[in-house]
Amino acid sequence: MSHNLTETLSSQVRAGSGRPLRASTLMEVWQGLSATVIDKIADRWHATERTYAAGRQEHYFSAEFLMGRALLNNLSNLGMVEEARAALDSFGLNLSEVLEQEPDAALGNGGLGRLAACFLDSCATLDLPVTGYGILYRYGLFKQLFDNGFQTEHPDPWMEEGYPFVVRREEAQRIVHYADLTVRAIPYDMPITGYGTKNVGTLRLWKAEPMEEFDYDAFNSQRFTDAIVDRERTMDISRVLYPNDTTFEGKVLRVRQQYFFCSASLQAIVDNYVEQHGKDLSDFAKYNAIQLNDTHPVLAIPELMRLLMDVHGLGWDEAWKVVTATFAYTNHTVLAEALETWEMSIFDRLFPRIVEIVREIDRRFREEMAERGLDQGTIDYMAPIQHNMVRMAWIACYASYSINGVAALHTEIIKRETLGHWHAIWPERFNNKTNGVTPRRWLKQCNPRLAELLDEVTGSDAWVRDLSTLSQFTDAGTDWIYDRLNQIKHANKVDFAAWVAAREGIEIDPDAIFDVQIKRLHEYKRQLLNALYVLDLYFRLKENPKLDVPARVFIFGAKAAPGYIRAKAIIKLINAIGELVNNDADIKGRIKVVFVHNYNVSPAEHIIPAADISEQISTAGKEASGTSNMKFMMNGALTLGTLDGANVEILDAVGPENAYIFGATEDELPELKRNYDPRWHYENVPGLRRVLDALTDGTLDDSGSGWFHDVRHSLLEGGYEPADVYYVLGDFAAYREAKDRMAEDYADQRAWAAKAWVNITRSGRFSSDRTISDYAREVWKLDATPID
Ligand SMILES: *Cc1c(COP(=O)(O)O)cnc(C)c1O
Repeated sequence: MSHNLTETLSSQVRAGSGRPLRASTLMEVWQGLSATVIDKIADRWHATERTYAAGRQEHYFSAEFLMGRALLNNLSNLGMVEEARAALDSFGLNLSEVLEQEPDAALGNGGLGRLAACFLDSCATLDLPVTGYGILYRYGLFKQLFDNGFQTEHPDPWMEEGYPFVVRREEAQRIVHYADLTVRAIPYDMPITGYGTKNVGTLRLWKAEPMEEFDYDAFNSQRFTDAIVDRERTMDISRVLYPNDTTFEGKVLRVRQQYFFCSASLQAIVDNYVEQHGKDLSDFAKYNAIQLNDTHPVLAIPELMRLLMDVHGLGWDEAWKVVTATFAYTNHTVLAEALETWEMSIFDRLFPRIVEIVREIDRRFREEMAERGLDQGTIDYMAPIQHNMVRMAWIACYASYSINGVAALHTEIIKRETLGHWHAIWPERFNNKTNGVTPRRWLKQCNPRLAELLDEVTGSDAWVRDLSTLSQFTDAGTDWIYDRLNQIKHANKVDFAAWVAAREGIEIDPDAIFDVQIKRLHEYKRQLLNALYVLDLYFRLKENPKLDVPARVFIFGAKAAPGYIRAKAIIKLINAIGELVNNDADIKGRIKVVFVHNYNVSPAEHIIPAADISEQISTAGKEASGTSNMKFMMNGALTLGTLDGANVEILDAVGPENAYIFGATEDELPELKRNYDPRWHYENVPGLRRVLDALTDGTLDDSGSGWFHDVRHSLLEGGYEPADVYYVLGDFAAYREAKDRMAEDYADQRAWAAKAWVNITRSGRFSSDRTISDYAREVWKLDATPID
């Protein structure tokens, strides 16, 4: 076997590099090994596509897929890791080094995009006929560097050196028309292997290309730049993932992107229907369901109406019946400002026919609601168009047969508030699907030591395909397991410390508590609360060097949206605290702060297995679900969190003695906020005055930006917003108490490991396999379809 792989690998590398393997670069070896994987799965991939095309299918539409690296994932799923290691060994190469060559496919911002990636993994593993559809962004999420502690953004041309895990399907191209431009959509298909199955699913990513490489008339008549400009306008469509998930810029282009992948995907799906089931489209929904991952793909709704009516001759009512039996919508946020709305004028410029259809949806909606007896105010609030703005979430709610939130608490909040009007009319459409993460990437691959222990304790690797089986072993927890857990965590921390030393130039002590907060930088996620604690602990140690507290490493990883100044200020602040603390001789390394730059899927895979504490401290009610909380739990880190998102369900799974929950709850906050006086907390909560004053008294240097003053001001005085809207100061005392208590508890290593064991073995319900089984059964009505 191994000999076989050695030969294939060698010839793949030679074919790509034009040199013998021993003279090829590590990058070329990575390319060759990746090509070897594609070669290995080509037949099953093809067979899976043929099988799925014939039956009922689900199509997952998402503007983001945060895939991370592919090679190890595929080797592991195919059971080829050891073979690949041996083959590379025979050339004197190291598998890890080769794997580190791979760029992350960072075609997403954060949780929403990573969820889509975990879902595809689960669909493949469960043999479910599901295909993902998105955009092949040439530049993924920006690369983050720090310059004097300030975030700087740099392009991420992740495919520039060639990427074997997408295959261009020229023959399956579709044409997408805009009023001002016609473009070709070329699919690039990525195989999605599952664990322990022959099925290979597909992620189809569309790339925009000009109809002709050049406009030769323009070129020949000396209008060379005109020819270039049009070409560039087309290429713009799939050029960049919009990194800014809070504000709206380049609106026309963004809507153009959304329509681009929706139209191309629907054309492909409709064509397949015709090929398989004939020209009468009225049974379309019998064979197809489409899940809309947030509102970015909502243009698929009017676009499918257009295809059904204009191309396939259905009347409005027939087409609407098909559409409303096809789409299901996932809501990802309760933050009202994140619900997309677009000016009608953008639509007017891009696609007049879609405008007509959206207007007709709006007209019929208003008519239907009036018949139901809704008052005009409510109808105006709910209507798809209001004041010449198109509201994507409202269209999704009206046209979808299923509307789901992503954690139990979140679903309750959208039913009650965000989408309360819709829930009042169509309660049966609403359902909860608590998010999950794949235990393949987030446990087996990133934490092989723990995976081995689980194999040993459970007697097989069945847990990899069914994580819920681990719960039978909670009670098997005993001293030898706890000791092993502690050894594993320690070994992971040693590895991580080496990684941090090489990548960030900071020395950390593996015997210290590793306390981790990694996620996008948002005020509601409250990295600021964590930062204030670190500063407070620093002052406590300065004041009393004899203070008996364990050594701690505070690890952060977070990108801020480029236009989100407050978030960037918090990054600068954490880096400034790191400068102060890490270099203070009095502290003697008892506190270290590490801000891992360019947080992404691959860094997460290094960080999470080494974490002791998982920081999940959002203002209650604001985090829809969270998924890093689940990754940490699976790897035996204990949650320090508020009762928010999926933390509520984690607490339910492990019990209050195995998680550290603090702070105001979602139902308490309205009342607390009514009487909230952050100044009172500043003056009365121990430690708070000192840390807030340190922001502006010269202790910390914001390099003349004025940002630290602004942060302090926003907490104490507010501006056009009230002071401290995220209740940072209000929760500080409770947070400090819980975090101090955790640090104390850590001293009893066996007791700590016992808690970790409960977390690991009860993490089954947070496997994306569970989430996907629920979607398949309750929403998609989809059966597993193994090939042969
Ligand atoms: C899991 C993950 C997220 C989501 O993290 P949350 O803490 O749930 O917001 C974001 N980015 C990356 C790279 C991830 O792997």
